[in-house]
Amino acid sequence: MNAPAYIGRFAPTPSGYLHFGSLVAALAAYLDARAVGGHWLLRMEDLDPPREVPGAQDAILRTLESYGLHWDGPLVRQSERHPEYQALVERLLEQGLAYACTCSRKQLEGYGGVYPGFCRDAGHAPRDAAIRLRVPQLSYGFVDRVQGEYHQHLGREVGDFIIRRRDGLYAYQLAVVLDDAWQGVTDVVRGADLLDSTPRQLYLQQLLGYPQPRYLHVPLIIQPDGHKLGKSYRSPPLPADQAAPLLVRALHALGQRVPAELEQARPSELLAWASRHWDAARIPRRRTLAEAQLR
Ligand code: GLU
Ligand code: ZN
Repeated sequence: MNAPAYIGRFAPTPSGYLHFGSLVAALAAYLDARAVGGHWLLRMEDLDPPREVPGAQDAILRTLESYGLHWDGPLVRQSERHPEYQALVERLLEQGLAYACTCSRKQLEGYGGVYPGFCRDAGHAPRDAAIRLRVPQLSYGFVDRVQGEYHQHLGREVGDFIIRRRDGLYAYQLAVVLDDAWQGVTDVVRGADLLDSTPRQLYLQQLLGYPQPRYLHVPLIIQPDGHKLGKSYRSPPLPADQAAPLLVRALHALGQRVPAELEQARPSELLAWASRHWDAARIPRRRTLAEAQLR
């Protein structure tokens, strides 16, 4: 069988419940896949047990189900892929593409989040150290389907970045690239808060010889105070009995025109209609959207 032309995914982190912003991202990913008869996968990005909220994984799955956002195939958990991440880290270390860093947080203060390279040539042993990927002094860019052109100079704006933390936890940047390639993902649809992670991911893809997926970053839904939903405070789970109105609201956030008679429809009908009428060109070309300004 040929690989399907479109494989999309939703990749929530169980550090909290799904909130309205994650619903907007999940819905966009779902519709973009379904509109072209593609597959839509679900991957639990449970790489950071200390930050995981107990019960969040189950709650996320239940919310997706009750909102009619059914995924294809088995759920993949990143917590079950540590051997693959470890093998990759070891390979990068052996090839000299990554190195051990023993810098303390304190030592890295005052560099604006750009790693100054102190351990680049120190030859530290990887035990009890963070592992960083060497980045080239190059700009990496791509054309996002909503946000347009986006470029970042990895050396100047990011610096050598962590792929395995000192406490042994694997970094999102590493796992996401490995897993998207392993799952054959052709299209990444997610929140615009990850736009500035994308150039790091492009570099890793290039390094590993993986194909580059298409990208679509939807506006991040923010609070009136400018905060991202769900991060600065604990959002409650999205209520199951509000699925239809919240889906309509999420469709509006994505610029989709919902006919008045559908505003009372069931989630399954709404999603069927929205898959047929999905128009990614109508998504607002902005990084953020204030929740309060949505209908
Ligand atoms: N797990 C990430 C998050 O919840 C999303 C990863 C992705 O879509 O690339 O923010
Ligand atoms: Zn260091």
